Amino acid sequence: MHLDRRLLLSGLAALAACRTGDAYGPEASTAGRALTRLVSSYPDHLVRVESDSLVWADGTRMPTGEGQAARPFEVMLRDATIADQLRQTYEPGPVWRQPPPRDHSPGRLRHTPFFLKMYGECREGPSRRRQVQWMPRTRPQMLPVTTVNDVAGRLDRVIDRLEDLPDRLKAWLVPSAGTSNCRVVADTGLPSMHAFGAAIDIAVQHSDYWAWARSRGEPVYRNRIPPEIVEIFEAERFIWGGKWYHYDTMHFEYRPELFA
Ligand SMILES: [Zn+2]
Repeated sequence: MHLDRRLLLSGLAALAACRTGDAYGPEASTAGRALTRLVSSYPDHLVRVESDSLVWADGTRMPTGEGQAARPFEVMLRDATIADQLRQTYEPGPVWRQPPPRDHSPGRLRHTPFFLKMYGECREGPSRRRQVQWMPRTRPQMLPVTTVNDVAGRLDRVIDRLEDLPDRLKAWLVPSAGTSNCRVVADTGLPSMHAFGAAIDIAVQHSDYWAWARSRGEPVYRNRIPPEIVEIFEAERFIWGGKWYHYDTMHFEYRPELFA
């Protein structure tokens, strides 16, 4: 019902774009809306989109890449434009009962210079990080998290709500496998959101990762993370790696721009 309504609305939006003579058609207007959402998701950093540039609060302009045709996912994974980064929308709620469609991994496409500018180089040191106490009433653990975009504060609120879950669900959470590290993603060679201190891995013990379960090279979807945990992170605009085709069910990262 919800989905039908959304399809209807996007159909109406596409029709409206045609009728107003939008030269780029419905796809471009979808990209335009996604860019508007990007600006409003990061109000401390971004001011507006002006023709084909994203304008930052300090005057920096970055090309959006809007209007460029999609390239194969594997190519975009290594070299995404800002517009590519917004091509896939993250759907909150219990949609993971279906395995994600091939190459549907909202959040994995990232324009690295965008995140480097926003969060800084991880080798610069701890200036933009603070220690967050993970699960203080269950199994306290200090974890460095970025203060940019108040990610640390948001994680504090996630933790408060996770602590209120029934005790039987805590086993999925502790100990955390970590937040910040300077390593790159194995298959792309690019920094992950962990390099920016804006991601957390919950406990490894009950997690699943695509590379651990492959059949003829293709990932076979598997998840054991309870929906209650995912929904608490999503409420603070952390996306979950369990909704990726190349899934990583212990992984959460702050990506408000991907929520429709
Ligand atoms: Zn992770």
